[in-house]
Amino acid sequence: MEQGPKSHYDAVIIGARCAGAATALLLARRGLSVLAVDRDHRGADTLSTLALMRAGVLQLQRWNLLDEVRASGAPAIRSTTFVYGDAPITVPIKPRDGVDSLCSPRRTVLDPLLADAARFAGADVLYGPRLSDLTRDASGRVTGVVIEARDGALLEIGAGIVIGADGMRSTVARLVEAAPYHQGAHACGTAYTYWSGLENRGNRWHYRPGTSAGAIPTNDGNTLVFVATTPARFHAELQGDMEAGFHSVLAECAPGLAEEVSTATRTERYRGFPGMPGYMRQSHGPGWALVGDAGYFKDPITAHGISDALRDAELLARAVAQGSEAALAEYQGTRDELSRNLFDITDEIARFAWTLAELEPLHKNLSKAMNHEVEALLALDGPTEPSRA
Ligand SMILES: Cc1cc2nc3c(=O)[nH]c(=O)nc-3n(C[C@H](O)[C@H](O)[C@H](O)COP(=O)(O)OP(=O)(O)OC[C@H]3O[C@@H](n4cnc5c(N)ncnc54)[C@H](O)[C@@H]3O)c2cc1C
Repeated sequence: MEQGPKSHYDAVIIGARCAGAATALLLARRGLSVLAVDRDHRGADTLSTLALMRAGVLQLQRWNLLDEVRASGAPAIRSTTFVYGDAPITVPIKPRDGVDSLCSPRRTVLDPLLADAARFAGADVLYGPRLSDLTRDASGRVTGVVIEARDGALLEIGAGIVIGADGMRSTVARLVEAAPYHQGAHACGTAYTYWSGLENRGNRWHYRPGTSAGAIPTNDGNTLVFVATTPARFHAELQGDMEAGFHSVLAECAPGLAEEVSTATRTERYRGFPGMPGYMRQSHGPGWALVGDAGYFKDPITAHGISDALRDAELLARAVAQGSEAALAEYQGTRDELSRNLFDITDEIARFAWTLAELEPLHKNLSKAMNHEVEALLALDGPTEPSRA
């Protein structure tokens, strides 16, 4: 932003990554005045692996951003291979609905690309300040935000609606006391890093009882390789020495991939996530709404959070543009209808109590839920849809 923010916006969004920046983009394209604020700096990395499902890639395509993502060097992913024990099943990505392959851009690429598109559409995007508080009117309705700059200066900005896109530890959710109404019981530990020198053989997901591993080709010729396991094993083997734990789980779960990694070059440090059970939270109220992980989080084992954030950004932007509480309630209802199966299957997979024979049908049900999601997104398109502009 060249000048400071205005004193009032139709929507102020806290968080400017996949949920927040996408919501800002879609609201700005609908002609609303929008400010997105993120306490991080533009292009900062975040704790996340990178797989986009078809629904996520479809959203980028529907918003005319997919060519730009591909031009960033995010390679085309033409198949997904599930390896149950030693038995691989390769599923080619069928060209459909303008999506002929998947891609998994780095978050250092995807998030600023969305934010730049939001700016291009007319949104203001402010990096650095953090949300400090919400303002309310006499009835308790949220009327704006108080943001705190890095030097401690406070600034009050009015908003028709304040949107929390501020992730799993959402300050907006805490300040509005958004209650969870559906919770997961399980979580698993994940560790990952990046390697150069691995061939792009599509997304690869490996499973053995108690472990999972995978390879996701991304920008700059790198491949993200992750391992996942039970919390007990994560704490015992990975928490203290992540490198040793990573290689031990990888060699056990995916010996072929471990062999490939042994001749590749690691390009970044190891990152670990000890896990957190999922939740669905109340995601709208007077003057506020939540999107992305702020409102709904599930274990990363099914690699779906970014795709869901891109889906829900659009559902929420449509509801905000309608401007009624009923539309916001419908947003939450549609989100839940599209997410509930994904959520429950993810929780079961994250439990790591399955046998390989039990896991395959769980994946088939997941695939059905994902197809339903894609159909729902395609059904949003109409002849005058402004988001395709
Ligand atoms: C280990 C791991 C692996 C994952 N792998 C995948 C995967 O392969 N595929 C997939 O689809 N999903 C994956 N996910 C999930 C995915 O990362 C999240 O679902 C996604 O990042 C949610 O996006 P978001 O925009 O809602 O929140 P975030 O990406 O968390 O962004 C929130 C933003 O809000 C900002 N913010 C927070 N508080 C404030 C404040 N008070 N003031 C100002 N700004 C604030 C933060 O700086 C941050 O930039 C993974 C997650 C983890 C933890």
